[in-house]
Amino acid sequence: MANTPYPESYYAASANAVPPRPALQGDVETDVCVIGAGYTGLSSALFLLENGFKVTVLEAAKVGFGASGRNGGQIVNSYSRDIDVIERSVGPKQAQLLGQMAFEGGRIIRERVAKYNIQCDLKDGGVFAALTGKQMGHLESQKRLWERFGHTQLELLDQRRIREVVNCEQYVGGMLDMSGGHIHPLNLVLGEAAAVESLGGTIYEQSPAVRIERGATPVVHTPQGRVRARFIIVAGNAYLGNLVPELAAKSMPCGTQVITTEPLGEALAKSLLPQDYCVEDCNYLLDYYRLTGDKRLVFGGGVVYGARDPANIEAIIRPKMLKAFPQLKNVKIDYAWTGNFLLTLSRLPQVGRLGDNIYYSQGCSGHGVTYTHLAGKVLAEALRGQAERFDAFADLPHYPFPGGQLLRTPFAALGAWYYGLRDKFGY
Ligand SMILES: Cc1cc2nc3c(=O)[nH]c(=O)nc-3n(C[C@H](O)[C@H](O)[C@H](O)COP(=O)(O)OP(=O)(O)OC[C@H]3O[C@@H](n4cnc5c(N)ncnc54)[C@H](O)[C@@H]3O)c2cc1C
Repeated sequence: MANTPYPESYYAASANAVPPRPALQGDVETDVCVIGAGYTGLSSALFLLENGFKVTVLEAAKVGFGASGRNGGQIVNSYSRDIDVIERSVGPKQAQLLGQMAFEGGRIIRERVAKYNIQCDLKDGGVFAALTGKQMGHLESQKRLWERFGHTQLELLDQRRIREVVNCEQYVGGMLDMSGGHIHPLNLVLGEAAAVESLGGTIYEQSPAVRIERGATPVVHTPQGRVRARFIIVAGNAYLGNLVPELAAKSMPCGTQVITTEPLGEALAKSLLPQDYCVEDCNYLLDYYRLTGDKRLVFGGGVVYGARDPANIEAIIRPKMLKAFPQLKNVKIDYAWTGNFLLTLSRLPQVGRLGDNIYYSQGCSGHGVTYTHLAGKVLAEALRGQAERFDAFADLPHYPFPGGQLLRTPFAALGAWYYGLRDKFGY
């Protein structure tokens, strides 16, 4: 049977040691079968176990193999679309509920890290960096908007103040969110998997769900086993393929790339990011970066629509890094990798239920570290019969990409090209 390892990355090279997990062989019965061991799947599993459910997790490769073990590690609050846009589409009542939840994912991560003693280099503080006056104006209105929903750990940074936290000439200002921050993403998800097991949950690796037999008690088939469950949670996100055709139609896997430098040493690292905050800029096609525990710079950027793997990642991302920090021109890049996130047309997550017993959450369109942790809680609430918050997400409208599965990639790339031009000319 295929044994899929982690892709080569800084995270895989610096992962905490974990015991090997078996593949599923034979038949198993459980309350909830979770498909996918990323943040969505494991956050759901943890909340369900904490509430007395029996949980079995199937992972096609290894825990955190997908975006959860490869991402930029930035704890960014709220959603990939802001609450005022959501308000215009779903009305004030649902927007209020979604707005109140927008900062909950970050709190869940911190609770998990503390409760289960997860070693993942958690640091507080994230900066949104403005490249233009227009972007700064947007941050000012975003702060007012978020404060309306009770989020108060925000500080606007003028040009002088942002230089104190990011030694980069490009920015005219920014906003600091002390409830943002950063983590070693693979070590977070590995710690969450250990927490699942400590509560009696079972995780099978190298066990792809290849077919779901729907019905009153659905059965999930893997190459060598079957899981019969009362409920299924589908959490395969951009790596799910066509297992659930209804979910593939309204979303598109996209690749994004990350590089990691050699260790910079304390002095150089501190000169770039003196308070060790993470940073993302305000462009549509944004750059994001942060320091690791051993003082490397992790820098992410580009988007590949349709999730093809680019041939030379360093050639794409290094120039972006040098534009932000020309002082790194002689620094070696030790790691470069790509990973897939799932884009929806509205850039809002797709949450819902198929029939009575198959639940899903996917498609947070780039900002998923916090949302996926919240999603696990909201899905678990729904399975316990409290669906008000689940319904607020499930009611968000979703549309298929223009051009269907064949033409959605060129259409989305065209859209991104347009937004890229707007970024370039400061609109
Ligand atoms: C390179 C990169 C950088 C990013 N940076 C950030 C960032 O800094 N901040 C941020 O907020 N967000 C970031 N994101 C997005 C964020 O990582 C994702 O939104 C989030 O991790 C998605 O979690 P998930 O559990 O839904 O999906 P994933 O982590 O992708 O997990 C899905 C899992 O399901 C498994 N699976 C799929 N199909 C099956 C099947 N049939 N049977 C069994 N298992 C299956 C996969 O193997 C995978 O392990 C980034 C994404 C990428 C790719």
